[in-house]
Amino acid sequence: MTENKMEKLISLCKRRGFIYQGSEIYGGLSGTWDYAPLGVTLKNNIRNLWWKKFVTDREDMYGVDAAILMNQRVWQATGHVGGFSDPLVTCDNCKKRFRADKVETYDMKTKKGKCPDCAKGNLSEPVQFNMMFKTNVGAVQDDASISYLRPETAQGMFVNYKNIVDSFHPKLPFGMAQVGKAFRNEIAPRDFTFRSREFEQMEIEYLVNPKDWSATFEHFRTEIIDWTKQIGLNPTHVYENEIGDEDRAFYSKRTIDFEFEFPFGRSELYGLAYRTDYDLKKHSEFSGVELSYLDEETKEKFIPHCIEPSFGLDRTVLAVLSDAYMEDTMSDETRVYLKFAPSVAPVKVAVFPLLKNKPVLVEKAETIYKELRKEIGAVMFDDNGNVGKRYRRQDEIGTPYCVTVDFDTIEKDDTVTVRDRDTGVQARVAVKDLVSYLKAKLS
Ligand code: ATP
Repeated sequence: MTENKMEKLISLCKRRGFIYQGSEIYGGLSGTWDYAPLGVTLKNNIRNLWWKKFVTDREDMYGVDAAILMNQRVWQATGHVGGFSDPLVTCDNCKKRFRADKVETYDMKTKKGKCPDCAKGNLSEPVQFNMMFKTNVGAVQDDASISYLRPETAQGMFVNYKNIVDSFHPKLPFGMAQVGKAFRNEIAPRDFTFRSREFEQMEIEYLVNPKDWSATFEHFRTEIIDWTKQIGLNPTHVYENEIGDEDRAFYSKRTIDFEFEFPFGRSELYGLAYRTDYDLKKHSEFSGVELSYLDEETKEKFIPHCIEPSFGLDRTVLAVLSDAYMEDTMSDETRVYLKFAPSVAPVKVAVFPLLKNKPVLVEKAETIYKELRKEIGAVMFDDNGNVGKRYRRQDEIGTPYCVTVDFDTIEKDDTVTVRDRDTGVQARVAVKDLVSYLKAKLS
């Protein structure tokens, strides 16, 4: 299943309305993806859970939603203008372009390698390709009006550090958190949404006294692992890769890449980095604004150091979809289902009348549906086709429970069947207990 799992997943995402190719009717736009109704809900559920865990449920986090366009000096200060680039190599035969460090057949030391695509040509020496999307702000297009679509959300927080301190007077340690779009002109977008040119990040810049960096790093390391469990990722698919001195960004004193076993191989899902005081120091230098912190008790004055947990939202959605994708045999039929954790499932419950042409069943099912929508929210009504087909349709979009109104509901005891997605087992539940039964199952 692994070889073509990705193809099956991409096809399911399109067919059932999770993710479409960007600008599809015009032939697409490479590296862009559009989230469809079920995908939007799945993504929102994940984003909201993240915000709750890392911001709302904590007392030391400050939420930010900064503008995507920022003063170009921001990116000069951080080194992005000069150095946010990937090594680009071109094949002398087929002319295709690749990111050298992601091509297995390319030796970064000798700067030589065969083309992974046509296998005939030789790849060129790498040239540094800046990944920021450049644009101009305002009616005049000159050097002064240059801006960039931000390549990361982090800097939107660092530049607001002083504002947060002035408005809220937080004591160290505290963090700033942001969820939002980032843009990178990737040389080779690939693997569905994994490497896109427009994507969403969920990032935290957690500021500490440098003497506390190590304990804070450890705290976020376990929080990230905890988060992957919360969204239902299989723990055996999540790996920690401690990045060695030679491969770390020059300003980072410690970095762990959290990798995930995607169907196309193990690849980076999240990053955790100790960025020292690099960003705030640079912004202080370039803006001329004092960005140090005064510890009122010790009278110590210093630029805070930063621990940065960085989460890709689109990669999270892809990891969740990939681990949820299941195939099995039920009632002698093969079926595909998405084994979502209830907290991320886009539809929590579906309600069916057993038969579409029996008004008593339909009316009762509609009443139950309306009540459940009020209490549970993401509930779907379906009266189309036989019940077996309806179960399969809900399985395929990962709905954890299906409620069916049948003749016993009306004629006998006011109970309905509640069918479990994963086992197919059905329980009879009194209508009066249905809300609490389902809430308990979903929680
Ligand atoms: P990679 O090595 O895969 O290019 P990176 O190390 O450059 O990633 P970071 O700069 O650390 O990535 O970005 C933080 C997070 O943002 C990543 O862990 C990933 O989840 C997400 N991310 C980065 N680039 C992309 C992309 N092109 N498409 C989707 N998500 C991305």
